[in-house]
Amino acid sequence: MLKVTRRGFSVSAGLAACTVAARIGSAQQGKDKAMNEITVKPLPFADEALAPVISARTLSYHYGKHHAGYVKTLNGLIAGTEYEGEPLEKIVRLSFARKDTAIFNNAAQAWNHAFYWESLAPKGKGGAPSAEFAKAIDAAFGSLDACKAALADVCVKRFGSGWGWLVFDGGKIAVESSANAETPIVRLGVTPLLVVDVWEHAYYLDWQNSRADYVKAVVNDLLDWNAASRRFAGC
Ligand code: MN
Repeated sequence: MLKVTRRGFSVSAGLAACTVAARIGSAQQGKDKAMNEITVKPLPFADEALAPVISARTLSYHYGKHHAGYVKTLNGLIAGTEYEGEPLEKIVRLSFARKDTAIFNNAAQAWNHAFYWESLAPKGKGGAPSAEFAKAIDAAFGSLDACKAALADVCVKRFGSGWGWLVFDGGKIAVESSANAETPIVRLGVTPLLVVDVWEHAYYLDWQNSRADYVKAVVNDLLDWNAASRRFAGC
């Protein structure tokens, strides 16, 4: 297990350290045959709670059609295979390692979307980074504003469909983007803290082609820093 020293104490950074990721996966694991399917958890906010940045109409398609569609397709693909009944996070990692592309794409999109919903909070409800998290952000970026700018930058610069991430990687906070369904949870020792969906389906109804404006609004108004602080504390 990789040992990482952060602010005077040692933590283990590895699969077991990704407590949030594990919780999302295990919450979606059923105990009997009828419960073996991966499920879509309820949104942690009301449909209109993120407006005007993300409208109820966008959520109805994004959560109700896109996210649900990935999960439905995944359940069809894994039925009767050795993936059936496994936690979502394990399906993501195993299918990535085995290059089972269709299963990976749908499983990773299912996981990324569940994490996206848990990265957002209605304006004014997301709080601020904890004191220790804020110190780590300052160490990496100089300030929270610079961290937000760096996250927005990778989101805007991602060419085509993908995701912008705030992660704990190698003992420090960092930003990165991923293409299509790619997800940092396939890399040992990396814990996602927050994500922004930059597929066009995430913003087109509300912002049309203006990805930069959607990203700026999400990063400034909707990120759940309380949730990210809890994830950071688990690293
Ligand atoms: Mn999406």
